[in-house]
Amino acid sequence: EIFMITTVNPATGETLADHEELDGAGIEERLARAASGWRGWRETPLEERAGLLLRLAGAYEAHKERLARQCTLEMGKTLKSAIAEVEKCAAAFRHYADNGPAMLEPLRWDLAGGGVAEGRWLAQGPVLAVMPWNFPYWQVARFLAPTIMAGNVGLLKHASSVQGSARLIEEMMGEAGAPPGLFQNLPIKSGAVNGVIADDRVVAVTVTGSEGAGQAVAEQAGKCLKKVVLELGGSDPFIVMPSADLDEAVKQAVTARIQNTGQSCICGKRMIVHADIYDAFLDRFTVAMGEVTAGDPFDEATDMGPMSSFEQRDTVLGQLAMAKAEGADLTGGAALPGEGAYMGAGVLTGVDPDGPMAREEIFGPVAMVFRAADIDEAIRIANATPFGLGSSVWTNDEGEKERFVRDIEAGMTAVNRFLASAPEAPFGGIKRSGHGRELARFGLHEFMNLKTVLLN
Ligand code: NDP
Repeated sequence: EIFMITTVNPATGETLADHEELDGAGIEERLARAASGWRGWRETPLEERAGLLLRLAGAYEAHKERLARQCTLEMGKTLKSAIAEVEKCAAAFRHYADNGPAMLEPLRWDLAGGGVAEGRWLAQGPVLAVMPWNFPYWQVARFLAPTIMAGNVGLLKHASSVQGSARLIEEMMGEAGAPPGLFQNLPIKSGAVNGVIADDRVVAVTVTGSEGAGQAVAEQAGKCLKKVVLELGGSDPFIVMPSADLDEAVKQAVTARIQNTGQSCICGKRMIVHADIYDAFLDRFTVAMGEVTAGDPFDEATDMGPMSSFEQRDTVLGQLAMAKAEGADLTGGAALPGEGAYMGAGVLTGVDPDGPMAREEIFGPVAMVFRAADIDEAIRIANATPFGLGSSVWTNDEGEKERFVRDIEAGMTAVNRFLASAPEAPFGGIKRSGHGRELARFGLHEFMNLKTVLLN
């Protein structure tokens, strides 16, 4: 019997395609190809790996429009943001091509008892990536670029909703001239993931997605004693202090909250504002959020496309109902009429900083705004969630900057700027946002064997 994974256009509710799900024999065939492909790839010189990355960057650029259209159709982000995402992937491939070899140079330590130890970076084998729909290309690029440079090979279990984008990534690898088995898409549902993790040929797994997906995958990886990197949810604080440039802070707070229709793991979701400027911030922020347009993602003038799915919109609307039941006030943030999964941007005030709602991650374009009497309270509210991914702080006071860097529980803090991932810098979180790092040399090294070689 053949099962299908059906994709839906969230802007219209129409079915886009039925993707044939791999059966057991199909999974086995790909695992075998990954293992044999790795035996060849691990021996390739670094220049050859860099050459492939450069050709891959070229393929992404040449097919930018086609790639972008596919993901806009499947998960609703604006076409202009999808194009920017594809360009960012190409930049990451180039970054690893240019800088990866230096990150893999042997290390060396002189031993007090005589002789030396060297550290050699060796490839380990096939790595499984379980990836989400919110940045269908970028999330995979963060895994794929280091995989290629490391001499590992990749298997992708992409979110069910973006199977067409997943297929295109595989096609781009083919176009770049990747050898068989270096990167394969596995069109499977989440129920088939445990079997892949358990397979002896798979050496490690990386997940980006919800806490639930992270827990399920980490549990199985733990049982199988395989390394796992987890990049899970976040509810980033965006803290504004009196010395900040208020206009800039308001502008960036809006962008942070509405980008990708609010469906980003990083980016301010909880605006924490010092009491002295709270009213001024809230007034301007509420007006600006009210001016955000939700509409056709293919239209250049649109700020936000639909939510990625009707289910995702229902989840957010359910959270907003819970917030109101707890006594919070909501401005905007309503489902828009029509057949797409559209909703307007919104602002929640009066959320109890110690209540259940304050601990939720809102994966949609609605911000919670909190008032803080002073920096201590701002930090306390910032840390009062299970998450610890990113943060953005707005202040021109040097002492405050250092306090935030030291005391905010997060893997990343942006000072007077928008928090975004960059190919050059490590990306990842602490607490329930996960562990391990992607990007930079830390991401490259995660799934490699640092072999200690003792020499006389
Ligand atoms: P999921 O976390 O469920 O999906 C991410 C990936 O994990 C998908 O490939 C999914 O496959 C897979 N997956 C889900 N459950 C399991 C499992 N038990 N075992 C193995 N793989 C699994 O995202 P959702 O679409 O359900 O979104 C729900 C919430 O997750 C959002 O509201 C948001 O809070 C968070 N999220 C966070 C993201 C981030 O960037 N950190 C990205 C996306 C979501 P399949 O699609 O087939 O279920």
